[in-house]
Amino acid sequence: MTERNSVDNAEGKPGVKAMQGPAHSSREHLRSLPAVHEVLQHPLLLDAASRDRTLARDCVRRVLQKWRERILKENTEPPPLEDLAAEAMALFSSSGKPSLRRVINATGVVLHTNLGRALLSRPAVEAVQECATRYTNLELDLETGERGSRYTHVVELLREITGAEAALVVNNNAAAVFLCLAALASGREAIVSRGELVEIGGSFRIPEVMAQSGARLVEVGTTNKTYLADYERAITSETALLLKVHPSNYRILGFTHQVSTKELVELGRKYNIPVMEDLGSGSFLDLSPYGLPGEPTVQEEVAAGVDLLTFSGDKLLGGPQAGIIVGREDLVRLIARHPLNRALRIDKLTLAALEATLRAYRDPQRAREEVPTLRLLTLPQEELKKRAQKLYRLLSRSKVSGAEIVMVETVSQAGGGSLPLAELPSWGIMIKPLDRSPARLAAELRQGEPPVLTRLQGEAVLLDLRTVLPGEEVEIVRAVARVLG
Ligand SMILES: *Cc1c(COP(=O)(O)O)cnc(C)c1O
Repeated sequence: MTERNSVDNAEGKPGVKAMQGPAHSSREHLRSLPAVHEVLQHPLLLDAASRDRTLARDCVRRVLQKWRERILKENTEPPPLEDLAAEAMALFSSSGKPSLRRVINATGVVLHTNLGRALLSRPAVEAVQECATRYTNLELDLETGERGSRYTHVVELLREITGAEAALVVNNNAAAVFLCLAALASGREAIVSRGELVEIGGSFRIPEVMAQSGARLVEVGTTNKTYLADYERAITSETALLLKVHPSNYRILGFTHQVSTKELVELGRKYNIPVMEDLGSGSFLDLSPYGLPGEPTVQEEVAAGVDLLTFSGDKLLGGPQAGIIVGREDLVRLIARHPLNRALRIDKLTLAALEATLRAYRDPQRAREEVPTLRLLTLPQEELKKRAQKLYRLLSRSKVSGAEIVMVETVSQAGGGSLPLAELPSWGIMIKPLDRSPARLAAELRQGEPPVLTRLQGEAVLLDLRTVLPGEEVEIVRAVARVLG
């Protein structure tokens, strides 16, 4: 406010920027800016002003303020009245919109971290709705009427599905790893292979998480090769954990050697040291029958004897953001009692969505049909082709000009650090604009309503049908037609 006033009264006031540069012409430009009421009366703004005059006036003020600052800085001429009104109108239209809103994901990346990762199943959404608008037995034992634990709602399901003795859930997998390390290895040592000291998604780096947890990192082996003997030589009376980390978003290929889960478990047993594995994605289903790379499932790792496993709720599992810990009862009890657990606590809406998602996994076929992440990852190529043909037809019928549009075979990604080498054959539409760069076209589609997120491929923008939800084709056509005219 004060800044605005000072600029409003800039003329004649010493020390204000207007007096420094080419003051004279700036002042003239400033003077030629229309007054708020003049812009507000422009026909473009009449409707907006009749709907919400205060907001419309505020938008005009903000636009004029922006131009005052620009004139003072760059000594530019102000735009015509109509452009100012159009700018204010655009601001007015976007003012009521929530900041966090839906977008159309045409990138083909199923678990796109920037686009919110997993989509919830219908039962999960219904459970959230119910628990958000009603009172619940979140921490009440309905049998005894006594205080209960929020974790009971998912622990039985997790034990049943994974075969683990005990389970605990927290805010996300980063929290799960951090909490386990803090509870089991603080002030002591945790042994990790050098090939597994990974960074996931920018801010989650194993050595840094380890340092924060108070555990001392003991690196063994080399980047490409680590043997069981490397772990064994590093074991001391200070060793609290043998940690295995899923390298998630990258692979070391070629001249490599890793210690198998089974070998590490045997070593842990021999020295009575718990083995913990950060699985990252953590799938409950073997996805190899669908042409996806076979990764060890959570159940397989539990059966192999890993003492403690952590994984995300919103990666391959396809549930809400959560960190799931399963493993030995005595260890999980220690972790649950750690004071940090309260700070990393899962909320009731997440629990509701997680319980509903886990329920689907009691029947793997049902999970594959009901959990959107699994459905999208296993969409048959034939169906993707049909949907690309439909989008292509709709685009051909619309009045899109100024671009070359073709249907192409493409490859989608799982994303979210899951199945990094998976190549999911898919179909897409390639739009090659003739009058602008593909980056510009992609930006215009992204800035529209609803925003359409695409992939750049060479000289074109690519829309991958895998992540385009049924019904969104029409919105895409409208968006493309609006941008390309
Ligand atoms: C994704 C991932 C994490 C972080 O999980 P969030 O649920 O995103 O917190 C940690 N470790 C591994 C190996 C991962 O892949």
